[in-house]
Amino acid sequence: MHAGMVRRQPKKPLVSYRGRLAPTPSGFLHLGHARTFWVAHQRCRQRQGQLIYRQEDLDTDRCKPQFALAAIEDLQWLGLSWDEGPYLQSQRMSIYAQHLQRLQSSGAVYPCSCSRKEVQNSQRAPNLGDEEPLYAGTCRQGMCGQTRCWRFRVPDGRKLRFLDLAQGQQTFEAGLDFGDFVVWRSQGGPSYQLACAVDDGLMGITEVVRGSDLLLSTARQWLLYEALGYPAPDFYHCPLVLDEHGVRLAKRYDALSLRSLRQQGATPAQILDRFSDW
Ligand code: GLU
Repeated sequence: MHAGMVRRQPKKPLVSYRGRLAPTPSGFLHLGHARTFWVAHQRCRQRQGQLIYRQEDLDTDRCKPQFALAAIEDLQWLGLSWDEGPYLQSQRMSIYAQHLQRLQSSGAVYPCSCSRKEVQNSQRAPNLGDEEPLYAGTCRQGMCGQTRCWRFRVPDGRKLRFLDLAQGQQTFEAGLDFGDFVVWRSQGGPSYQLACAVDDGLMGITEVVRGSDLLLSTARQWLLYEALGYPAPDFYHCPLVLDEHGVRLAKRYDALSLRSLRQQGATPAQILDRFSDW
């Protein structure tokens, strides 16, 4: 080759995109889930990436095999496909246990003996719109009873900033927006936060597409990636879908489940058409 001649290289993305669909099979998927999964699917396909299907079925009281099957059938009916999985979190307990041990050895977590009631009564501030109370850190200096759970010791006052690809710049303050959170329960094993961060790390996920109700979870999981040495993925938090009264759709709100819309004769095209209005 003489100077100036450039050999053509096949086009290859620098880091190949890996996304995931992570339904919790505790009910039929509603339109809000379907839309988030549709967005995840589209973003992955546009980037010629790999899509992983992960069933988040840790809560064995609430998750049922019939909902797990329905989620797969309904998403396939809608036109979604994936390249890996389903992986079942309920079958990955030993992996999460190994990660808990890593956090224990590095001192990132501590045992807590507080009951649910004690946590509620001692919380530092009302937790608006978040599922986990803002724990006052009572057991940071040592417990006064049996271990009920292990908590991640958050760096109080540290600001976590990240650019969300849908919602823009986000800032959360550890110890103010969320407190020391549960990573493991003695009766029940890994929390959603731990299992999700471990799986996103191990599965090499490069972008997480999820509902914007999980923004605070993202901030918590950011700390877990760091503590476990996994690179944080990019994030795209979809706006939540509200019903006609402005209330967030829930799994128990069956009228807008994919299952009942299918049974009423809706076609995938009609459902996808509704997404374009939101
Ligand atoms: N499993 C969660 C759900 O179905 C999603 C969790 C996530 O995207 O991290 O709402």
